Amino acid sequence: MSIRVHQLAKELGITSKELIDKLHSLKIDVKGHMSALNDDTAFLVKEELKPKKEKPKTKEKAPKKIKEPVVKVKEPKAEEKKAEEKKIEEEKIVEIKEELKPELKALKINLPIAVKELAIKLEIKPADLLKKLLDKKVLVTINQALDEEVARLICEEFGYSIEKPPSFEESFLAELDKAGDPKKLKLRAPIVTFMGHVDHGKTSLLDIIRKTKVADKEAGGITQHIGAYEVMLPKGSVTFLDTPGHAAFTAMRARGANATDIVVLVVAADDGIMPQTIEAIDHARAAGVTIVVAINKIDKQNINLDKVKKQLADHDLIPVEWGGKTITVGVSAKTGQGIDSLLEMLLLEAELLELKANPDKPAIGIVIEAELSKGKGPIATVLVSNGTLRIGDIVMAGLNYGRIKAMLDDKGRRVLEAGPAKPVEILGLSGVPQAGEKFYVIADEKKARDIVATRQMEAERKKLAGKTSKVTLEELYNKIKVGEVKELKIVIKADVQGSLEAIKDSLEKLSTEEVKLSVIHGQVGDINESDVMLASASNAIIIGFHINPTNEAKALAKQEEVEIRIYSIIYEIVNEIQAAMEGMLEPVIEEVFLGRAEIRQVFNVSKIGVVAGCFILKGRIPRDAICKLIREKEIVFKGKMSSLKHFKDDLKEAKEGFECGISLGFKDIQKGDLIEAVEIRKVARRLNK
Ligand code: GDP
Repeated sequence: MSIRVHQLAKELGITSKELIDKLHSLKIDVKGHMSALNDDTAFLVKEELKPKKEKPKTKEKAPKKIKEPVVKVKEPKAEEKKAEEKKIEEEKIVEIKEELKPELKALKINLPIAVKELAIKLEIKPADLLKKLLDKKVLVTINQALDEEVARLICEEFGYSIEKPPSFEESFLAELDKAGDPKKLKLRAPIVTFMGHVDHGKTSLLDIIRKTKVADKEAGGITQHIGAYEVMLPKGSVTFLDTPGHAAFTAMRARGANATDIVVLVVAADDGIMPQTIEAIDHARAAGVTIVVAINKIDKQNINLDKVKKQLADHDLIPVEWGGKTITVGVSAKTGQGIDSLLEMLLLEAELLELKANPDKPAIGIVIEAELSKGKGPIATVLVSNGTLRIGDIVMAGLNYGRIKAMLDDKGRRVLEAGPAKPVEILGLSGVPQAGEKFYVIADEKKARDIVATRQMEAERKKLAGKTSKVTLEELYNKIKVGEVKELKIVIKADVQGSLEAIKDSLEKLSTEEVKLSVIHGQVGDINESDVMLASASNAIIIGFHINPTNEAKALAKQEEVEIRIYSIIYEIVNEIQAAMEGMLEPVIEEVFLGRAEIRQVFNVSKIGVVAGCFILKGRIPRDAICKLIREKEIVFKGKMSSLKHFKDDLKEAKEGFECGISLGFKDIQKGDLIEAVEIRKVARRLNK
């Protein structure tokens, strides 16, 4: 599309002559009023001639004033004068520092954004923006779109930080997340998870509560295991999650859901606090969940409750009777002793937490577990966190949606609806969602389908871009700068307690105004799967000192994209983390071997030059790989090749056992030399040292 000068002049309300003058001043060559202008030029001119808007103010600053020394009648004493000068000097320094630290103003834009749109947003001339981009070696035209990285860089230069407006999904779901009318809020049952060291009695406690407290007579004495069950008491109900332990708890959290309101920390009276008890405490704390302690097995002989309470206090769980805030209850899963008071305490705690929900709206909630049943299709156990779920509702969870065909409660009875904190099994989803995923009831099936489609596309895009949302040391600085990370959370595993304490102390001291460092879990021992899940759920990194991750943990870390760094010197940890916080961490480049070829003959081909006739001994040699020319174990050349051929045909890749001709753009090649192809990769440092 193009526009004539006179047409544009008319549009702009100026004469053709004025427009031609303007064009000439912009160094745009036009002959006369019939000359055609392309879109970009027309846009540029329009921008130029737009009435200037008031520039956005970048941080109100009082006009700089250098304070005049106070005029005194008497000549000030020498030291007074000095002090005054010093003060002025200090004020100047403060002012300069303030100038160096301009605050970024938020700019709302959709990404990717076309150059011309960004210019409008920044209220600058598109030509200036193009020039700025060119300075940054970004060669684009005015209509081309800029991705987030480039747009962010440019915006920062102009004093703005990018604020992305919420996507359709975000704003749509945020609306559904709202609790609605505060007057309609009603108290709901607390959702409780049992955690603690293995064999301390989590399962036994869940069982005895179910057996003695669930009124299942009407259902013929059968209780269904559907991942959660509800206990009705005269003063209220409590919902228990049926998968005890911090692994399941944190795995759910890593999928995005904090289903639990209260953690019951089970500690066997005869055993006291053990390693997994500490893990459980840290997992619950990282989730910000209230802890109630059940000291179990009090039926046993020779137990000392005070000793256990002392251990709890050492971990900042100070019992109420000792002046702290932690409720502790002695129980026995064997005799049933103390179970009633435990339940009572849970209700009490729930009251303090003021857990409320509005039953009078479409449901939202969390998937507790899900599976594919042969006869029934996908079955999911869900917990309603707000609203009421009904048969016939359209439910969306993760990448699945569907209309609820049937609903069963924890006693296996068919139900028509489920209110807040009710666990139910639902049938009708299109696929099996993951435990921990949030579900929403969406009135309009088309909207549900659209959101799922967008989610699928986004997941694909992320996978292709290899981008991770998890924090890594390499990326830390950027994330701090754009305000994405305000706290660097760290899990430390070390060989001995002494080192652990020393590392924890020195790391926490690195906290700055911009970013706080907090050690969310520190323990002696190898890095295990539970550490990885904790780091994943909390967006933390893991530091190992003189220890390694287990194989399972290594695999899980890869899957969850959690960074693990292993060190053997404490100051190296401190140095690296500090460097990462300041954006000074150097990336580690690793060469990955792809293939090796032997040069069997050297040809001179007109126009192309020297060509190595090769035989691929091992692996593969891709056309775009970096090649190393090796002569007697010495690298004589390293760089990209200029052609890869098989006779006259260009190849994308040459494979093991085949012949090919390689020209390197390097003449000194000899028969018997080796050519090795490598891929250059940026890798996280010291992983698996
Ligand atoms: P979990 O690994 O924490 O789930 O522990 P379990 O519930 O499987 O219990 C481990 C062992 O401790 C089992 O042999 C139980 O019978 C026993 N146990 C659990 N609670 C009690 C209790 O209150 N008193 C006694 N004496 N034994 C218990």
